[in-house]
Amino acid sequence: MRWTRSLIPTLREDPADAEAVSHKLMVRAGLVRQLAAGIYVYLPLGQRVLDKINAIIREEMNRIGGQEVTLPVLQPAEIWQQSGRWQVIGDEMFRLKDRNARDMCLGMTHEEVIAWIAAKELRSYRDLPQIWYQIQTKERDEARPRSGVLRTREFLMKDSYTLDLDEAGLAKAYDAHKEAYCRIFDRCGLRYHVVESDPGMMGGSGSHEFMAPSAAGEDEVALCERCGYAANVELARGVPTRPKFPAWPVEEVATPNARTIAEVAALLKIEPALMIKSLLYVAKDGPVLALVRGDQTLHEKKLARILGEFRPAHPDEVKTHLGAPVGSVGPVKVRIPIVADESLREGVYVAGGNKEGFHLKGVRPGKDFSPRFADLHVAQTGEGCAQCGAALKVERVIEVGNIFKLGTKYSVSLGAVVLDESGQERPIVMGSYGIGPARIAAAAVEQRHDADGIVWPWSIAPFHVHLLSVNAKDPVQTGVAEELYEELATAGIEVIYDDRDERPGVKFKDADLIGLPIRVTVGNAFVKEGLVEVRSRRDRTDRRVPKREAVVSVKELAQELGGR
Ligand code: ATP
Ligand code: MG
Repeated sequence: MRWTRSLIPTLREDPADAEAVSHKLMVRAGLVRQLAAGIYVYLPLGQRVLDKINAIIREEMNRIGGQEVTLPVLQPAEIWQQSGRWQVIGDEMFRLKDRNARDMCLGMTHEEVIAWIAAKELRSYRDLPQIWYQIQTKERDEARPRSGVLRTREFLMKDSYTLDLDEAGLAKAYDAHKEAYCRIFDRCGLRYHVVESDPGMMGGSGSHEFMAPSAAGEDEVALCERCGYAANVELARGVPTRPKFPAWPVEEVATPNARTIAEVAALLKIEPALMIKSLLYVAKDGPVLALVRGDQTLHEKKLARILGEFRPAHPDEVKTHLGAPVGSVGPVKVRIPIVADESLREGVYVAGGNKEGFHLKGVRPGKDFSPRFADLHVAQTGEGCAQCGAALKVERVIEVGNIFKLGTKYSVSLGAVVLDESGQERPIVMGSYGIGPARIAAAAVEQRHDADGIVWPWSIAPFHVHLLSVNAKDPVQTGVAEELYEELATAGIEVIYDDRDERPGVKFKDADLIGLPIRVTVGNAFVKEGLVEVRSRRDRTDRRVPKREAVVSVKELAQELGGR
């Protein structure tokens, strides 16, 4: 492709609103443009990256027996009402009415449609197993679209669904997906962890997420290097180190003007780990006091697994239920249910005294109050692994894919049943599996860039070779570049030829920014010695070769860089 015939609108400056590296670089390299919050245009180079990723995904899905389908984005409300998700899902779903005032929605995922087809088309255990997949647009009114294409309101997803007669079949389909996903992310050149995750609103019995380490990620995972334990922090259990507990007797201490853990700890000259953080929530059955250690953060998802839906109490509710304002409340002598983090099972603490301006010192959980114990706190780096005791590492990650054992929730509600060998009706056992191609692209940019731009892995680079002549006004240089362009293209190599009449600095900068794996330069070395320069973007190493060896040299370097 010739630059002068292409749309590659590179920018020198970062977009004003961008924080994530991938956001900045994908906009600057002319891959994408934002039309509105969380709605993106993919320009030609961006489209080629997506196409490459999608091709890899297709190959790996086909390899495990996946059959490609296309399911509608526009869907009738009925199937969502049948599954119950019409009511459960809130503002994230785009809803609309058709001209006859029928409720419709834009698909944010496709379990319902799949179960609907299965109900119509599958009759017998002989029709199973099945794997159906699509690479299709999803619409979600995300609360916080951000970080460029990492979280958008319209995005491409490869979603697949497995249909099996029983749990054993599902387990096989699930494992096949897990392996296919690893191959996909390996081939896309990502570093990633496979972690246990919380099935959440999807329901079901097991799930894993594929997490690519990056500072731009919105998720965190806890990892144990010794035993391999790896879980989303929504789930991960860390065993905190035990502070040295003093032999405090119970006493009331005045803590005027000290409200936060940090303020009280400073005033009493104790470490925050010797305090109890008391948080009042209102669940369906009424108020609940939740406790974590002063140096810990409560994970709301962990609490939700115990309480179901809940919300933080308003300040006046705190006063009503505990007789003191936020900042002075604690668990002793309260009449409402208490859940406490496991780490509070033992020890002596300072807690709020339920009296404005006072705390209680010497509080012993289990003796001075009787909570229900559960894992509530967010696992932190340095805590012990719950499996082996080694130190955990908490890392920020981008979720690039996930897999769910759904079970029979959707097949039961939409009537997707088959007859088994004995003629009994059985609901189909489903699995659901998603991958975000745009997130793969952005995660690759996050993991592979330098100060000058993107460093694409071979497999998903929009093109492979960036050809340019240093002095576009020199007919010798441009003549050679034109010939090389022909030769490379004829050899089946994907090449962008920067044929602009631009200063060399501009062309070199754009080449680094766009980040194709190989740059071929025709410049002074050719004028002087008849040599062209073949350069690796990743290693920034040059080899100078006579023009007639250029294509061979490119092919050799391609092999080193992972090309086939
Ligand atoms: P998240 O927790 O990040 O919102 P999710 O759990 O909602 O993700 P799924 O519904 O399982 O994700 O979607 C499957 C895959 O689709 C994700 O792993 C991710 O790669 C991609 N994806 C999900 N939401 C978005 C989005 N808003 N923008 C871009 N890609 C997305
Ligand atoms: Mg989501």
